[in-house]
Amino acid sequence: MTLPSPARLLCAALLSFGLVGSAVPAVANDAVPAAPPSTAPASPATVATQQPLEPATLPTTAPVAPVPAGTVPATGKSTGAAEPSTVQPSEVALVPSPAAKTPAQNEVTSFVPDLNWNPLDDPESNARYGEHFAQPITPLKTASPLGLDDEGGSAAIAPRSGTFKVTLVTVQLSGKTVADTDAINMTAARNSITSANGYWNSASAGRLSITKVNELRHKSAAKITDSYGTIMATVTKELNWQYRSYESLVIFVPHADLNYNGSWGILGGGFTDSATSGRVIMPYPSALTNNVVTHEFGHVLGLHHANSLYCGNARQDVPRAGSSWADSSCYSAEYSDTTDLMGYAQVSSPAINAFMWEYGGFGRGDEIRNLGTPTASQSLTLRPWAGGSSGRAAKFTDPASGETYYLELRAPVGYDTATAVGGNRGVKITKKDVLGWSGNASIVLTPNSLRSGWGNTTLTWQQGQTFTTHAGTRIRIDSVTNDAASVSILLANRPAIGSYDALSASRNVDTAFVRVQGWAADPNQPSASTEAHAYVTGPDGVKRGYVINATRSRPDVNAAMSLGGNHGFVGDIAVNRSGRYEVCMFAIGGVNTELGCKQIQVSNAEQPIGALDDVTVVQSSGRVNLNVRGWTMDPARSSSSTPVHVYVTAPNGVRTGYAFTANKNRADVNSALAVTGLHGFQDDISIDAPGRYTVCAYAIGLNFNTALPCRTLQIGAALPIGSLDEVRVEKTATTATLRVRGWTMERENAQASIPVHIYVTDPSGRKVGTAYLADKTRNDVNSVLDVSGSHGFEQVISAPRAGTYTVCAYGIAVSPFSRENPLLGCTTVRTGVAEAPKGSLDAVRVDSTSSGAVIEARGWAVDRDMAPQSTTVHTYITYPNGSRKGFVYPTGVLRSDVNSYLGISGQHGYVTRTPVTQRGSYQVCTYGIGTSPYSTGNSLLGCISLRY
Ligand SMILES: [Zn+2]
Repeated sequence: MTLPSPARLLCAALLSFGLVGSAVPAVANDAVPAAPPSTAPASPATVATQQPLEPATLPTTAPVAPVPAGTVPATGKSTGAAEPSTVQPSEVALVPSPAAKTPAQNEVTSFVPDLNWNPLDDPESNARYGEHFAQPITPLKTASPLGLDDEGGSAAIAPRSGTFKVTLVTVQLSGKTVADTDAINMTAARNSITSANGYWNSASAGRLSITKVNELRHKSAAKITDSYGTIMATVTKELNWQYRSYESLVIFVPHADLNYNGSWGILGGGFTDSATSGRVIMPYPSALTNNVVTHEFGHVLGLHHANSLYCGNARQDVPRAGSSWADSSCYSAEYSDTTDLMGYAQVSSPAINAFMWEYGGFGRGDEIRNLGTPTASQSLTLRPWAGGSSGRAAKFTDPASGETYYLELRAPVGYDTATAVGGNRGVKITKKDVLGWSGNASIVLTPNSLRSGWGNTTLTWQQGQTFTTHAGTRIRIDSVTNDAASVSILLANRPAIGSYDALSASRNVDTAFVRVQGWAADPNQPSASTEAHAYVTGPDGVKRGYVINATRSRPDVNAAMSLGGNHGFVGDIAVNRSGRYEVCMFAIGGVNTELGCKQIQVSNAEQPIGALDDVTVVQSSGRVNLNVRGWTMDPARSSSSTPVHVYVTAPNGVRTGYAFTANKNRADVNSALAVTGLHGFQDDISIDAPGRYTVCAYAIGLNFNTALPCRTLQIGAALPIGSLDEVRVEKTATTATLRVRGWTMERENAQASIPVHIYVTDPSGRKVGTAYLADKTRNDVNSVLDVSGSHGFEQVISAPRAGTYTVCAYGIAVSPFSRENPLLGCTTVRTGVAEAPKGSLDAVRVDSTSSGAVIEARGWAVDRDMAPQSTTVHTYITYPNGSRKGFVYPTGVLRSDVNSYLGISGQHGYVTRTPVTQRGSYQVCTYGIGTSPYSTGNSLLGCISLRY
């Protein structure tokens, strides 16, 4: 409810009278001042005293007799009692009112709880722990100077430092006896101050203390049937207690509980008079007193209640709508966060939540990490909130709604030991409640908003659960232990945004293109550049996609859309066909957004085409050339020959251009393209070094130049390798040859068979060179060198002279830039000796047998060049009649003596037997017959005469 209460009016009146603004008193934080509706504004006389008293109870006139308590029903609990509009000065309190003696009043004062009494556990008690009354949930409040209502997520109260001096007063209310008052356990009362001091001293990192400096006993005109706010106001007035910085008033009254408008069960009340002053009213001490007094000092320090969200539709979170929730099925269940000191916290005093912590300016200031407005999903670690780590909690501002959320790990540590158990151990999520007019109330957002109040024992989020803000941002609980929780903030995917500003057509030297311009951004990552995608449908009807990076500066867009970074795009998309183009653009993000389509007409878009078919190395007259071959055709003038520019990048990096014209016949091209004219080119470009060459050709068209795919080739500087394996002398009776065998090749050019040059120097010193091709199969060589091809040579070379021959072989490089033709080897061989056969006719005789006579000749003969080969002997016989005949015989008889003498082997002796019949004188001559090709003739071995 936002009705301006009388208290508010009165407060305004006081301000208008010039009281110190920062000391606006008696703004009852949550305790509803039981202001009489008819009370007039404070009189000037009151103002003159400059005593900032409880405005709701300022007496404006002479004391008026209290309203008879007889209006209170006998039960005293069921209906609202009439509020006394004014109170007597304290001095007159001894005069008992008639009501004080009614049985009803005696009944409500009859019970003195002991310190173990927990009214929450007492079925007879109607306890509403604390000062808060269950209904209405939004009691009347007044604006507080402590903070602005719309200020969320930032400290409203600067860090305070000081010691609250407490005046502790026991009050004998009208109608109560001395014995009633004596029943107030002062030890418990004092302990509660100590307890509150311990809690807030810890929460303020030692800056705040609360200490009792004075203890009074006071007899008041107020009655227990007065609403608790009225009692507080009456006593304040009677004591003439005034607001002063770092002072507070704590009163205990002799009754088990307090009431508001006749509803009982209230266990305490707190009033803030500024950020550094306030008052507390308490009933008889009980088991709850330490906690309640600590709670009430939370009010004194400016905090409102820790509430929880209830939604009849089970929503986890709702947006604000002015000063209420946007969803009428939801309300703030005041005071029902049972894990917070400022909620329904029972005996223990759990930690106030991070929102309250920050609001009140507590701690060192480093406990809550401010994640700001996340621009990307992220993970973070929380440490126990009731522990001592810096950065143990976090807050972030939802990028979609701007609301600030607080994330804490509630683990059984420190002040949370008793409460952070079961479903209350986990990640607690809170935000500012709409309830607090000063922005000083929190609301806990729980996994089940259908439960609220003290019936909800599951206020925290567990591992695996995900909380979703009303704007769609998700908080995923990744893990929870007593020491740490891991949480991921997952931003909702918002559609990409952008604008497709323009489509135009243009051209450069290479191509025609369509240009798209605009901007694109992903609001999920508002400072990061994203992409735009273009889909181009050309005259051929084919749709093609292109990625265009939106990385250009567009300050206008950033300013208008509250973006950082660069989001503009200008994309050129080459086209090579004239006609109509449609280009559709998309902004790319978590969700892509179509930015629209545009159309444009493109003319004269066709580019020359062609190919660099091959580049080969050719050598002519000592020069090495690159022969470049290809074709090109310009659709803009398809029957004309087109210039071609060829750029050769030499191994030293120097690039040289050559201009040719594609004016050679290429029937294949004409046929394939259905054009006429001359479109081929084939030209030589001289080069002078080995190495890697890159050759690129450009078709020079009427409108564009087209780069044809380049070619590279490696031109080696080869050094042949090889071997002259063998030079063997081979002779027959008529021929003598040298068999020359070996291999040679270029490693860099192993496929090719290369020449071998063989130089033969004969015994006379004459040298003859002959070129051959090493193209014979040599599997052994290929195997060892792991190459293919044929690299062997084996030549038979005539060796007509006896003597020493020298044979040398050279591998002949074929690569254009070979370094040299290496010597593969030289071999010297002796072919033989040139002489006539040697031998002897040792003896001749006639051997007569029964069958006839035989002339037998013995001796030896050898052609030494052919030894150990046997030779031939011719035997000539001159008969008695003078005729002469020759006969041919082989040698074949071992003559060790001859072998030994000549140092040879073989069988070189002979025995020839020639039949004869005539008697008379004979002459026998033998000749050794030369068998070597080098033989100088036949030799007469000897002649011997004899008679038969
Ligand atoms: Zn309270």
